[in-house]
Amino acid sequence: MKHNRYVYYFSEGNKSMRELLGGKGADLAEMTRLKIPVPPGFTITTKACAYFSEHKKWPKELEGEVKKSLARLEKDMNAKLGDANNPLLVSVRSGAAVSMPGMMDTVLNLGMNDETVTGLAGKTGNERFSWDAYRRFLQMFGNVVMGVAHNYFEEVLEKIKQTKGVAYDTELNADELKKLVADYKEAIKQHAGLEFPQNANEQLKLAVNAVFNSWNSKRAIVYRELNNIKGLAGTAVNIQTMVYGNMGEDSGTGVCFSRNPATGENVFYGEMLFNAQGEDVVAGIRTPLQLSELKKKMPKQYAELDAIRLKLEKHYKDMQDMEFTIQQGKLYMLQTRRGKRTCQAAVRVAVEMVKEKLIDQKTALLRVPAEQLDQLLHKTLDPLAKKKAKLIATGLPASPGAAVGTVVFNAEQAVLHGEQGESIILVRTETSPEDIKGMHFAKGVLTARGGMTSHAAVVARGMGKCCVAGASEVIVKEQEKKFIVKDVEVKEGDWITLDGSTGEVFLDKIPVVDPSLSGDFATLMKWADKYRRLGVWTNADTPKDSEVAVGFGAEGIGLCRTEHMFFEGDRIKAVREMILSSDVEGRRKALAKLLPMQRSDFIGIFSIMKHRPVIIRTLDPPLHEFLPKEEKDVEELAKEMNVSVEVIKAKTEELHEFNPMLGHRGCRLGIMFPEITEMQARAIFEAAAEVKKKGIKVKPEVMIPLVGAVKEFELQKEIVDRVADEVMKEKRIKIDYVVGTMIEVPRAAITADEIAKVADFFSFGTNDLTQMGLGLSRDDAGKFLPLYVKLGVYNTDPFQAIDQQGVGQLMKICVEKARKANKKLKIGICGEHGGEPTSVEFCHKLGLDYVSCSPYRVPIARLAAAQAVIRK
Ligand code: PEP
Ligand code: MG
Repeated sequence: MKHNRYVYYFSEGNKSMRELLGGKGADLAEMTRLKIPVPPGFTITTKACAYFSEHKKWPKELEGEVKKSLARLEKDMNAKLGDANNPLLVSVRSGAAVSMPGMMDTVLNLGMNDETVTGLAGKTGNERFSWDAYRRFLQMFGNVVMGVAHNYFEEVLEKIKQTKGVAYDTELNADELKKLVADYKEAIKQHAGLEFPQNANEQLKLAVNAVFNSWNSKRAIVYRELNNIKGLAGTAVNIQTMVYGNMGEDSGTGVCFSRNPATGENVFYGEMLFNAQGEDVVAGIRTPLQLSELKKKMPKQYAELDAIRLKLEKHYKDMQDMEFTIQQGKLYMLQTRRGKRTCQAAVRVAVEMVKEKLIDQKTALLRVPAEQLDQLLHKTLDPLAKKKAKLIATGLPASPGAAVGTVVFNAEQAVLHGEQGESIILVRTETSPEDIKGMHFAKGVLTARGGMTSHAAVVARGMGKCCVAGASEVIVKEQEKKFIVKDVEVKEGDWITLDGSTGEVFLDKIPVVDPSLSGDFATLMKWADKYRRLGVWTNADTPKDSEVAVGFGAEGIGLCRTEHMFFEGDRIKAVREMILSSDVEGRRKALAKLLPMQRSDFIGIFSIMKHRPVIIRTLDPPLHEFLPKEEKDVEELAKEMNVSVEVIKAKTEELHEFNPMLGHRGCRLGIMFPEITEMQARAIFEAAAEVKKKGIKVKPEVMIPLVGAVKEFELQKEIVDRVADEVMKEKRIKIDYVVGTMIEVPRAAITADEIAKVADFFSFGTNDLTQMGLGLSRDDAGKFLPLYVKLGVYNTDPFQAIDQQGVGQLMKICVEKARKANKKLKIGICGEHGGEPTSVEFCHKLGLDYVSCSPYRVPIARLAAAQAVIRK
C-alpha cells in the first residue's frame, strides 16, 4: 500500500492501517467497509501530524487533500461547511495508534457561526437545539483551540443560570442561550485577545492544528512515558459528520460491550440515555438506562444494534467496546475498539471464544494478562466501595489479596484475637521471626519499612496472606498502640482495609469479593501446560503451603527455606540456644531438640509432594533475625541454657553484625558449625527413608545457600554425602538424592563453570543476586527505589522484575558457562522473580529448566511460561 498521501476518506482505509490512521480512524474505516452505518468523514494521517510537529506547518499537499475530501463529504451529506442555509457540522477528533484516553483534544459542532446557527435552526426546525450546539461549540473551541480556561465559561454560564433562577443548563431557553453565546464570544475576546473566527474553514484548520499540537502536550507526553508508549509518529485527526442524540425522544446515545466486561458472560451489555449527547452519559448527571430500555422503546434500532455487535465481534474476533448515537430514529456507530475487561471476564471470554471457534487456544492464552490472574486467586475489594473509601497510605503491593480487620500492634495481640476468630490486621514497623505466629492469625499485615523481598513480604506471600510493606508514611507507635499517617491517627481496635495487590491502605471496612476458580480457569491452565516448556515449581516451607501449591499445579518444590520452619512456637528458643552456645556441646544439645521437629516437617512435605522433586535448602538465617530482642525472651533463654542474663546479652552483643545480610549467613554458618548441616542432612534423609518405606518414591534435593566459591560448596556437599551414607546404612535403604547450590552471590555466577562440575543443580536466588549485583539492600531500598523508578534509573523495581540488563546478564553468563561444563546440570530460579511474568519470559529465553515461586503465583507462572513460548 502506498502511504504517500495525507488524507483517507473512511471508505478508503481499513483496520490494518492503525499506525497511519490511528486506532479510531482505522476502526471507523473498517466499519464503513463492513457497511455498518458510520457518519461519513475522513482521516488525516499520523504522518501529517509528524510533519507538523517538526516543521510547525502543514505539508504542502495537505491543504488540497483536505479540500478534496471535504468536498466529497459535502456532496455525500448534501450540505456545506459554513453554508448559511444548509450547514454541515463536523467533529474533529484525535486518535493515535495506541489508545490514550482523554489525553488529546476534540472539538465538536465545528462549523457553527452567527449565520449557520440560523440555518441549522431552520433545517432542524429546532431553534433551541441550534443555539445550544453553538454555545457548546464556542466553549469547546474557545478552550481547546483558543486556550481560554474552562472556568471563564463556567462563570458566564453560572451567572446566566443564577439570573434565570435555574439549576441546569438544559433549562435555558433559546433566548437565554443566545445571550450565553454573546457572553461566551465576549469571554473569548477578553481572555484570548482575539475574536472568535466566524469562517468555518478557518475553524477547521485551527482545530486540526490544535489536535496536532495536543500530541505534544505535557500530559500526552507524560502519559506515553508512564505507559511506555514509544515509536509512534503522532496522532491522526478524524473529521466526521456530526450526529445528534439530543434531537428529541426518538434520539439517544450510549456505550455498549459485545459481552459483559465484568463477568465475560456472552450477553449484550450497555448503557444509554434518550435525548442526550455522548458527554451526558459519561458525566453521570442523569442515570443511564440499560439497553433493555432501548429494546422496549425502539425495538427496530435495538435489533439493528444487536446485529452490529455480533457482526463486529465476529469480525474482530474479540470483545468490542462500542459507541452509538440514534438521531431521529436512525442508528449510527461512532466507535468500536477492543473492550477492557476484568480478569474473570478475560478468562471466560477467551475460553468461550475458543469453544465458539472464533479464536485458537494460543490466541486465547495471550488474551489473559498473566499478572492479572492474581485477581482470581485472592479476595479482592469491591471496586465500587473501594472508590468511595478513604485512602490513607500507599506502600508496596507485597502480597496480593484484600484484608479487612481491626488493628493490633504486636504478635501476641494478633494471636489472642485471631484465635477467637476475630479479623485482625497486624501493623508493625517491620516484622521479625517472632511475628510469624501473629502473622498466621492475622488477615493481613502492614509494615512501614521493608521492600518486596523483606521478611514480611516473603513470609506473607508464602502464606498467601495479604501484605502491604514499606508504607513509609505510616509512623507506628507500638508503645502507644497507634499509628499515624499525616493527620490520621489509627488506634488499636480501629478498622482498616488493605489491598495487597495495589499496596493501598484504607480507613474502615470495605466489602470484599471472593475468588472464583471457575471451570474456565482450569481449562485455560490446561492449555497453558500444553504449550509451556518451563517447569513450574513452588517455594513452600510447610505441608500446608505444599498442598496449596500442588492444588495450583506446582510440579515440585524449588525452595524450602528451613529457617522458616524454626520461626514457630518453641523452635525459635532451640535455634537461639544453638546460635548463642559458645561450644560444640551446647550447639549439639540444641540441635538434638531441633532434629525431630525438622524430620517431622520433612516427612509432612515429602508425603504431600510424593514423587515430585523437593529442594530443601540448608539453613540460611541472617543472624539478626534470630537474636532475642525483648527482655523477657532474654530471661527465658538464660534459664533454658542455665546461664546468666548477662552471658546471653554479651553473646548477643558479640554476634551483632554491622551488615547482617552480608554477614555470617548461608553456607558460612554450616562451614563454621558443620554440626548444623549434619543435623539438617540427617533430618532430610531420615525423613526420606521413612516416607520411602511407605512406598512413596521420594526425591530429596539438598541445596547449599550463598555459595560464592566452589570450595564452599564442596565443604558442605562432603557433609551431606557423608550423612546420607550413614543414614542409608543405618536404615538399610537407598535414597536417590542430589546436591546443588543457589546462585545468588555474583562471584558464583561468574565462576559457574567451576561450580557446575561438582553440583547437580543450580537455582538462581535472584533476591540476593539483585541485592549484591546492584548493591541495593533488600530491606532498605524501599525508601528510594520508587524515586529511582520514577526517574527512570531502573525501568521497574529490580526486586519485582529481573533487571535484565544487569542481573540478567550475570544469569546469562552463568548459564552459558555452567552448561558448557556440565551438560546434565538442571537450572532453575527460586528468587521472588520466579512468579513475575516478564522475569518468567526471560528465564524461558535463557533456557532454564524451571521457575519456582510462592504457591499463589504458580498459575501466573504457568500462564506466563506458555505465553513466552507462543510469543516467540
Ligand atoms: C534469594 O536470595 O533469591 C532466595 C531465594 O533466598 P532468600 O530470599 O531466602 O535469601
Ligand atoms: Mg538468598
